[in-house]
Amino acid sequence: MRRVLIIYSGGTLGMVSSWASGPLSAAPSVASILEKVPELQSIARIETVSPYAIDSADLSLDHIRVLAETILLSREKYDGFVVIHGTDSMAYCASALSFMLLGFAKPIIFTGSQRPLQRIRTDARRNLINAVEIATSDIAETAIFFGDRLYRGNRTTKISNWKYDAFDSPNFPTLGQVGLDIELSDGCRGPGEAFDPSFALDPSVFVLKIYPGIPVDSYFPLALTKGKAFILEAYGGGTIPLQGSSLLKLIEAAMGAGNLVAVNTQCHHGGVLLDMYESARILKENGTLSCKDMTIEASVMKMMYLLGRYGLNSPQTVSLFSRDLAGELSEERTNLHQKWSE
Ligand code: ASP
Repeated sequence: MRRVLIIYSGGTLGMVSSWASGPLSAAPSVASILEKVPELQSIARIETVSPYAIDSADLSLDHIRVLAETILLSREKYDGFVVIHGTDSMAYCASALSFMLLGFAKPIIFTGSQRPLQRIRTDARRNLINAVEIATSDIAETAIFFGDRLYRGNRTTKISNWKYDAFDSPNFPTLGQVGLDIELSDGCRGPGEAFDPSFALDPSVFVLKIYPGIPVDSYFPLALTKGKAFILEAYGGGTIPLQGSSLLKLIEAAMGAGNLVAVNTQCHHGGVLLDMYESARILKENGTLSCKDMTIEASVMKMMYLLGRYGLNSPQTVSLFSRDLAGELSEERTNLHQKWSE
């Protein structure tokens, strides 16, 4: 029987309330969760640990590092890992771990639920059972199992706080689906890559969402402070306002001060296409980086990881950001760019 470590880090799945509709808080212990799902023991030899139990809205970079260390220290002892996590920041945490534990070669399956385990109509039980079963497989993915689907963690975004299908992976096919059986896709990463852990995350990353009337001038003091990376959530394929806006000046000022600027899009599906419109092409000419078809969650955590590992001014940070490290972006987007500009 395979050995699976369940790491309880908090979230709705284990939360309890003292009266029927009272506010939820973390379960008293991971044992109290597992005793409600005794059938887990027939799937794998389960052990548990709980380095912290938080509402994932409180997730900090220290929490992420502690989680990565917990998994690293247990790498030899277990065949797979299940992380019970709050849904709110699950996509950020799973993205971060996919970079920090690059080449880990064993399944790390995040799961959680929309309704607590203690409530009727809960989705906790099946999410947890399926996640544990998938953690006994040979896939080398840091993934999220939720609502009968398995997603690559760094391709995933939370789309609902109501539906049982809380997540989506808009630019990448699901890695698996659960019906009568568990079907895993051939697209899952397998073991074989060199294990290359790195735990430093640098938080000097700012996300700037573009919208009509954005008060660009207020951002100049920030843009001129050295040591930062900015991720623009631009429109459509990466377009920004050029007429009557000083946004381009802001971007040039930020880069002139030695900062990095990367372009992402507000569209969930598709990706950044900097050749398509003048108001995007100009960003490419200026040397901004492209997030291609990465989620915002993956872009932010990848930038923190690269800054923490190589530093802001290193050529590796610049060249690796738009390249595929852990399955987080599609290289063929480049071909799409080329196709368009032909
Ligand atoms: N606020 C909760 C959390 O992220 C929501 C959930 O788990 O669904 O911890």
